[in-house]
Amino acid sequence: MAMQDVESLRREALAAVAAAQDEAALEQARVEWLGRKGPIMEALRGIKDAAPDERRALGLRLNELRDALESALAERQAALRGDALAERLQAEALDVTLPGRPRERGGPHPLQLAQDALVDALHALGFRLAEGPEVESETLNFEALNIPADHPAREMHDTFFVAGHPGYVLRTHTSPVQIRAMRAHAPEPLRVITIGRVYRRDDDVTHSPVFHQMEGLAVGEGIGMHHLKGTLYEFCRAIFGEDVKIRLRPSYFPFTEPSAEVDIGCVFCGGSGCRICKGTGFIEILGSGMVHPHVLREGGYDPAVHTGFAFGAGVERIAMLRYGIDDVRLLFQNDLRLLRQF
Ligand SMILES: [Zn+2]
Repeated sequence: MAMQDVESLRREALAAVAAAQDEAALEQARVEWLGRKGPIMEALRGIKDAAPDERRALGLRLNELRDALESALAERQAALRGDALAERLQAEALDVTLPGRPRERGGPHPLQLAQDALVDALHALGFRLAEGPEVESETLNFEALNIPADHPAREMHDTFFVAGHPGYVLRTHTSPVQIRAMRAHAPEPLRVITIGRVYRRDDDVTHSPVFHQMEGLAVGEGIGMHHLKGTLYEFCRAIFGEDVKIRLRPSYFPFTEPSAEVDIGCVFCGGSGCRICKGTGFIEILGSGMVHPHVLREGGYDPAVHTGFAFGAGVERIAMLRYGIDDVRLLFQNDLRLLRQF
């Protein structure tokens, strides 16, 4: 092989390497040009046939060509891999400057906030949470609370009965939990708070068939009306502020004797009289009284030894007064415009 042939072999081989567009084509060029049957190996094998004075120079040129081709192949391979990587980076690129999607954050419902505040206020006064079922026996919901079958209060309760389970109702108030707590603790002294859903069949503009009640109960020796009043005062201060005024008015409930309704100074007008307090300066907030001897006996206490007081309120009403909400339906509509304010 003549020197100029080596030179044209070099140009052709390097052109083939440069023309390879992917690694498979490059591998094909490697086999074609540097393989055992390729032109370079063939030329190396043909050195022995060259003129003796040309053999050394020809051998050097061919070896040089083989080295040059190997480095050209390596370079081209690196370039192809680099291109592939760059292409992949381009295709899978993430635009990290794109703003994130904001995630909505939830928060407690005002009714839940009111329940938490009520439990906290009584917790501070030594009352502990007591729980009971929402499906309750008529006995615990009525009879044990001094509301026999012919009692007029029974009609006022507009009860939901449980189909297929005679003698069971959806509890119409949280008071049956008081009986359960007393039976669990008698004759030990007791201070409990109960809170939760209650059910009545009235459903109109101002009533919902499901609403929430809270009650406090204290039983022990020597408990009097003054303990009730002191507890209510501290309780109302915790819920409505340090300056709250309270007022007790005689009333009637089947499960307490004597009974009193509790008003607080109007939180809307500060006592000067407004539409909401109907000009009286006071708003009714709680029912309360000394636990009826019949109820104490039902709970397992001896009324000759033990006395107690109880009080209860609607959680919706307290939430409305505490947060200045003037329509009870707002508490059940789950309108985000209201809920976002809490
Ligand atoms: Zn007022």
